[in-house]
Amino acid sequence: MKKNDKELSRRSFIGRTIASLAGVGLGLSAAKGLRAQETAAPSAQPGAPAAKPAIREYRDLGRTGWKTSDLGFGNAMIQDTSLVEYAMERGINYIDTARQYYEMEVVLGKLDPAKRAKLFIATKLLPELFTAKTTAAEITTAIEESLKRLNTSCLDCVEIHSIGEDPKLSDPAKIKNPAIVEAFEKAKKDGKIRFWGATSHGPRMVEDFDWLVDNTPIDMIQPGMNFMTKGLGPVLAKAKAKGIAVVAMKSLAEARKINYKPFMKNGATVRQAVIKWTLAQPNIDCIAMTMRSVEMIDEYIAASGRPELTPEEEKALKGYGALLDRDYCRPGCSGCLAACPNGVPIADILRYRLYFGSYGEEKHAMSLYRKLPRERSAERCASCEGPCEATCPHNLAIRSKLLAAHGELTV
Ligand code: SF4
Ligand code: SF4
Repeated sequence: MKKNDKELSRRSFIGRTIASLAGVGLGLSAAKGLRAQETAAPSAQPGAPAAKPAIREYRDLGRTGWKTSDLGFGNAMIQDTSLVEYAMERGINYIDTARQYYEMEVVLGKLDPAKRAKLFIATKLLPELFTAKTTAAEITTAIEESLKRLNTSCLDCVEIHSIGEDPKLSDPAKIKNPAIVEAFEKAKKDGKIRFWGATSHGPRMVEDFDWLVDNTPIDMIQPGMNFMTKGLGPVLAKAKAKGIAVVAMKSLAEARKINYKPFMKNGATVRQAVIKWTLAQPNIDCIAMTMRSVEMIDEYIAASGRPELTPEEEKALKGYGALLDRDYCRPGCSGCLAACPNGVPIADILRYRLYFGSYGEEKHAMSLYRKLPRERSAERCASCEGPCEATCPHNLAIRSKLLAAHGELTV
């Protein structure tokens, strides 16, 4: 048995929960299940630097038994564990990773076992693994590869990455493949995973989550959700009623490329307002946020446990929404897809463009775009009059956006 595994096996899963809470200074009250935890502000010494923000709230992660920090640490392109360790010092105990996120699984596998035992780590298998014909053995092999990369004998949660894509790109029947439940439930019985789930920001997000929640013993769903998305309410409520964990992602909408300054007041930021909005929604256990620097972690964590938006923040959110309104392609929307005679996966390409221009993930965005069949690429828009545009409820200039995306993603 590896050192990591010995460490984990010494503690029960619940034991790990309590250890994690104690490790961030929240103590027994949090372990007993109090929903909101305000950390006592240290008495300020004259001239002392301002106290660093810390997580203020831990929530039930569905029926997993884990008390998760309301903010989780997501896809960070990290080269070593220092940023994760900093996030842990600030109280984060949920990590979102994926086979697709560069070498992040391998880096997390290098965490000190004692620290790792204080984390809930959710990883995702490659999206292309899942088809209507994928076998249980293939899924099992992929789980075992993630076990090796994360250097452990049991993964907290393994997810199907990116369900709900455009049906012209990916067979909608793939989530109904019985091999999925067979492989994940067997992996649970064999002690290789504790829980399994699925993530989505695609146009069929709501339908696919709905089917999984109704028809499988899925433990966790991770939707793209923010103050501009619509339609997820009923499926999230249904998931919650069944004890299925709900982790939101894509909560900053266009995230980093917007000039936020007009909306900043008294040290608050629009990003904090957006986080607070998401945390205040019913049925959300945690938000997985991309965190790439100490400053980013501090900024986001300052919004933890404070879902009440100030009137100033509400105003800021409104302004930010107006700025994005005719620019942002909403996760879960499929309004324009049927109108394209060429089967161009509009929502997916606009999301790749977001990764490229806003998330700073140029290589990742370009590699996703390269995987599209050429006859369905945005190249087709050059000789098209753009009938898709009349069908977008948000009046996005789809054609010109797609042409710009093609230029950026093929340089
Ligand atoms: S501009 Fe034409 S080819 Fe391009 S997405 Fe719209 S309908 Fe399809
Ligand atoms: S371009 Fe408009 S209609 Fe098409 S998926 Fe995006 S938001 Fe929906």
